[in-house]
Amino acid sequence: MTLPNPVPPVLPTTTGEIWHVRRIFCVGRNYADHAREMGHDPDAEPPFYFTKPADAIVISGATIPYPPQTADLHHEAELVVAIGSGGHDIDAASALTHVWGYAAGNDLTRRDLQAQAKAARRPWDMAKGFDNSAVVGPIRPGPLGDQPITCTIDGKITQSAHLGEMIWPVPVLIAHLSRLVTLQPGDLIFTGTPAGVGPILRGQTCVVTIGTLPAASVTVI
Ligand code: MN
Repeated sequence: MTLPNPVPPVLPTTTGEIWHVRRIFCVGRNYADHAREMGHDPDAEPPFYFTKPADAIVISGATIPYPPQTADLHHEAELVVAIGSGGHDIDAASALTHVWGYAAGNDLTRRDLQAQAKAARRPWDMAKGFDNSAVVGPIRPGPLGDQPITCTIDGKITQSAHLGEMIWPVPVLIAHLSRLVTLQPGDLIFTGTPAGVGPILRGQTCVVTIGTLPAASVTVI
């Protein structure tokens, strides 16, 4: 009997190189309007994190099956930060030197399971870290700056904001997260979603765009 040979998850980049995904960290409630729409005070808490398994990655353009055990699959348009050089206790002032590039992402969420988990004070793993839950566009190197972020479903805009509206900007997130874990090359950080999250139905295509970054598109059947 041979040992199993799992396929490591990868993403395309705009340079033609292949990005090997190590870990996926996600930030909760990083836009004030979204924190409020979920019933929370955006001024009340520091950033917090959850994770998805690396093989939850969906390459943009894919068609995925409607996830099991949910009747309320939601989209969350997010900027994804791709960590190129690791470290711990990183200063915010130098944090962007650890970034290789950026991508558009969609933090797919089983909202009904998340609500149940919150009510029972249980972990979010099965609401957030399920198969095909991390849609990511091609990673583009270089600086990004403030950009518009939008989400459309079948061409209709559902989320529209600017990256500059983040409560915790990317350098602050990297500094804060690197005090909790040692960041490593290949790590991805989903940086939270603005207001307007909502359902994706079977047959619909959901597209996240951030400025001139390549889009993150997924079709659910
Ligand atoms: Mn999210």
